[in-house]
Amino acid sequence: MGVLGALTDLVLPRECGGCAAPGTLWCPRCGAELADGPVRLTPRVDPGVPAWAVGGYSGARRTAVLAAKERGRRDLARPLGEAFALALTRLRERGEIDLPELAVLTLVPAPTRARAARSRGGDPVARAVRVAADVLAPEPVRVAPVLKYARGVRDSVGLSARARVENVSRRILVAPVEGTGRSDCVVLIDDVLTTGATAAESVRALAGREVRVDAVLVIAAA
Ligand SMILES: [Zn+2]
Repeated sequence: MGVLGALTDLVLPRECGGCAAPGTLWCPRCGAELADGPVRLTPRVDPGVPAWAVGGYSGARRTAVLAAKERGRRDLARPLGEAFALALTRLRERGEIDLPELAVLTLVPAPTRARAARSRGGDPVARAVRVAADVLAPEPVRVAPVLKYARGVRDSVGLSARARVENVSRRILVAPVEGTGRSDCVVLIDDVLTTGATAAESVRALAGREVRVDAVLVIAAA
C-alpha cells in the first residue's frame, strides 16, 4: 500500500459498520435496518414512561452498537444519530411524542461508565445524540448530557435483571439541568435496552431534579 492508500485508510472507514462491506461507512442494506420502527417495548424493569427501539439487538444494529462502543468506531455516530433523528420524527408524526411547534425537545444521553468511555475515546451515545440534534435542526433541540454513574457501577454484561437493578440503584448522578422549565419534551436516549434497569433509574434520578422524562428511545432492544 502506498502512502496515499495508508492516509486514506486513516480518514475513510475501511468497511461498513454493520456488515463489513468494504469501502463504505454504512451501506444501504444496513441503512434499511436503522430505518425500521420505532417499536414500542415492554421492559422487564418498567421505566414508567413509553420506551421505544429502532429494532431488535441483532444484525446491523447490534454490530454497529458494538463497533461504536467496543471498537471505537466514532464514525458510526453519524448513522446511529440519523437513526435516532428519524425515530424521533416518526414518534412525533404518530403523536407518541407531543411536541408543539417551537417547543424545545431535550435529548438526555443515558449514563456511561466513565473509564470505559474514556478508553473508547469518548461516549458513543452522547456523540450520536449530538448528531441527531444536528440532523433535526433547525428544530429547537437541546442535548443535555447530565447523567453519570457514581462509583461502583459494574459492567452489566451477564448480570440478571435483579442484579442490574441493584447495580445502578441510587448510583446515577444528575448534574444541574439548566432551563428545564423551557423544555416541553424530554427523551432519554441509549444504545441498547436490556432489562430497562438503567432507563428506569435514569428516569427516577431525573425526576429527583424535577425533570420529567416523556419517553425512552434506544437503537436496539436486547
Ligand atoms: Zn452494511
